[in-house]
Amino acid sequence: MAPPLTEIADGVHVGALAPASLLNTVLIEGPDGDVVVDAGFPWSARRLATLLRGRHVAEHAVTHAHGDHVGATAWLCRQTGAPLAMGEADAGRFENGRLDTHAGALGRAVLAPLARERRTVDRRLVEGDRVAGFSVLAVPGHSPGTLALWRAEDRVLIVGDGPVNVSDDPRSPRWLPLPRGLHDDPSKAGASRRRLAELRPALVVAMHGRPVAAPGKWAREVGV
Ligand SMILES: [Zn+2]
Repeated sequence: MAPPLTEIADGVHVGALAPASLLNTVLIEGPDGDVVVDAGFPWSARRLATLLRGRHVAEHAVTHAHGDHVGATAWLCRQTGAPLAMGEADAGRFENGRLDTHAGALGRAVLAPLARERRTVDRRLVEGDRVAGFSVLAVPGHSPGTLALWRAEDRVLIVGDGPVNVSDDPRSPRWLPLPRGLHDDPSKAGASRRRLAELRPALVVAMHGRPVAAPGKWAREVGV
C-alpha cells in the first residue's frame, strides 16, 4: 500500500502520486481548512481520494498548468467543492486553451493532453497573494504562470518544478537528469530558479522528487 500523507514541516504534508515520489501532491493546513497544491495525472484521482479522506479541502491551488499537475484538478474541485486558485498567466489557458507551454515536442505531445477536463479558475494568483500562510511568488518560465509558495518564518519553499531529488536523505540530494524542453522559456525558468535559490530555503518541497534540506546544494544545482 502506498504511504499516506507525511507532515514534513509545520502543517505541510506531502503525498506521493507516483512511485518514488516522482510526482507529489502537497497539503497545507490553513485557517479555513486544507489547501491542496497540485492534483497530478488524471488517474491520480483515486489516490487523491484516499489521501484526502476525512479532510476538509478549502481550496485547490496549482503551481502551474501542465498536464501532470492539473490532470485531476477539475475532478478534485468537483469532488470537494473547493474553489480553484492558479497563476494569472496560466488561468485563461487552463480554462479553455491548450496547455502546450513546453519548448520541446515531448512535453507538448505527452504532457499537454493530460488535462482533459477543465473548469473555471476562481482566484487568479499574482505575486504577493497569500495561500494558507504562504506568500505567492511569481516565477515564470517553466510555464508563463508558474508560482512558488514561500513561508519566510521557517523558510519553507514549495515549488512545482525544479531540480528533482531522488535521494531519501534531504541533506544529501541526488539529482535526476531531465530531458530538455520541458520549460516554456528556459532562460526565464533559470532566472526564476536562481531567484528562489537566493532565498536560501531551509526546506524545498517539490512536486517532483523528494524534499531537500540543503540550501547550498539546491542553489548550486540551479546555478547560483
Ligand atoms: Zn511536472
